[in-house]
Amino acid sequence: MRNLKLFINNEWVDAEDKRTFNSFNPANKEVIATLSSATKNDVNKAVAAARKAHDIGGWSEIDADERADFMIKAAGIMQRRFNEFAELESMDVGKPINEAKTCDIPYSIRAMEYSANMAREIRGSVIPLPGNEAFNYVTYEPYGVVATIVPWNFPLHIATRSICPALATGNTVVLKPSSEGSVTCNLLGEIFLEAGFPPGVFNIITGSGNIAGEALITHPDVNLISFTGSLETGRRVIEASAKNTIKKVLLELGGKGPFLAEPDCDINAAVISALEGFCFMQGEVCCASTRLYLHEKIYDEFISKLVQKANILKLGDPLDPMTQMGSLINEDHLKKVDVFVKRAIKDGAKLLCGGEKYIIPPCDKGSFYKPTILECSDNKMECVQEEIFGPVLVVLKYKNLDEAIALANDNQYGLEAIIWSENFKTLCHTAQKLNFGMISMNASPLSVIESPYGGNKNSGLGREDGVVGMMEYLKTKNNYLYISEY
Ligand code: NDP
Repeated sequence: MRNLKLFINNEWVDAEDKRTFNSFNPANKEVIATLSSATKNDVNKAVAAARKAHDIGGWSEIDADERADFMIKAAGIMQRRFNEFAELESMDVGKPINEAKTCDIPYSIRAMEYSANMAREIRGSVIPLPGNEAFNYVTYEPYGVVATIVPWNFPLHIATRSICPALATGNTVVLKPSSEGSVTCNLLGEIFLEAGFPPGVFNIITGSGNIAGEALITHPDVNLISFTGSLETGRRVIEASAKNTIKKVLLELGGKGPFLAEPDCDINAAVISALEGFCFMQGEVCCASTRLYLHEKIYDEFISKLVQKANILKLGDPLDPMTQMGSLINEDHLKKVDVFVKRAIKDGAKLLCGGEKYIIPPCDKGSFYKPTILECSDNKMECVQEEIFGPVLVVLKYKNLDEAIALANDNQYGLEAIIWSENFKTLCHTAQKLNFGMISMNASPLSVIESPYGGNKNSGLGREDGVVGMMEYLKTKNNYLYISEY
């Protein structure tokens, strides 16, 4: 078991009042680490370290090339510790080790490399003005201190997709991971320390959202908040960001992704994608596709194949490479998911599979929930509208594509939508009409470092990832030089 501390100004320190909390493996309830619970004063120290590191210019004013070299070095160290990070991520949040090895850890390393290399290429522009009287050019500068707050489902991946562009563009960072999944984020401190990052450039505070998180989002010296989490906390972040120093806010919030399958789609491939869409990371994924809209012509065949596959999905020890679905994050969350399912059935949904806790050993010690499919007839039902954040899929039938698009758009969220068809025009037409930040065509939900990630409506504000995501961490400066005679 590890004893992890706060990482402030390149030093590992206890919380001021020495309070700690435990991180559990949700698959067997064993404690895997003890972490420090930051007080408001600890947060103040972390922000002060980040502020100083930014204001002395040692990080923000060096060449992007030099910052990139630090980041590439960090990526190399992560690569060396790949298996250790993958195992810890799997144990900390209950995800199958295969997912940690193919998604979380490689994506985090890629975030370091990609941000480093992209930041070398950032350039300003010259604006032609009428009259030829001035040389007008645009430059980009770091915001200052960035607060990155992340949830527990992809702790390291979500943290690095914010930290890396923030650091590569010259900001300094205070990271606050979720108390349900802090271990790998905490170990990032070791990575950056070994890579030689200057003191104060990167800091980590662990502890509760209500204390450490609140102290961070209300701190006057924080200039930008990158928040990934629930809609409710996202609203609180906006509110707090308007007090004292106005802060820029990036929000990645919830989702209730639609999956549309047209009659001409490749049914076998679409079935696999639909299963992955709601079972990857046990469905605890913001961009999960959890609303399946099937054309009536393929409804029966699709459902029968999907239910068959869902019933044989292998739940098991997340560290077993054969495991396809792991444990939900904790028992309280499992109960929340189960209550949604039971209420849906009471409201008239038909249970096609799952609908209960999975307790065959070794899963009896954890919070495993069977892949669950609910057949629904009304788009307004709670289970169709609300994010359940578990392996629960609702299915509805449609007659024509316009109707399916309207049903898909009829939701408060707008993160990612999926459409399957063999017709190129159908795909493009539908992509245009769906009010979502991301569209996957003939593919499962996608989150890659190279492409902008984010949602419309209540799914968030701004974008992470890609060039667009990187530019979010830079403020624009307009420079006007008068060159004519007075
Ligand atoms: P929460 O909003 O509860 O928590 C997210 C983070 O915010 C955690 O680090 C939490 O700390 C912290 N936090 C909680 N309260 C405050 C506060 N008052 N001030 C500052 N920080 C606070 O979300 P969950 O962790 O439960 O994550 C699930 C949600 O996240 C889902 O709705 C999901 O859709 C969304 N999500 C969105 C993603 C996206 O990219 N769009 C990706 C992944 C998840 P602590 O946990 O320690 O309390």
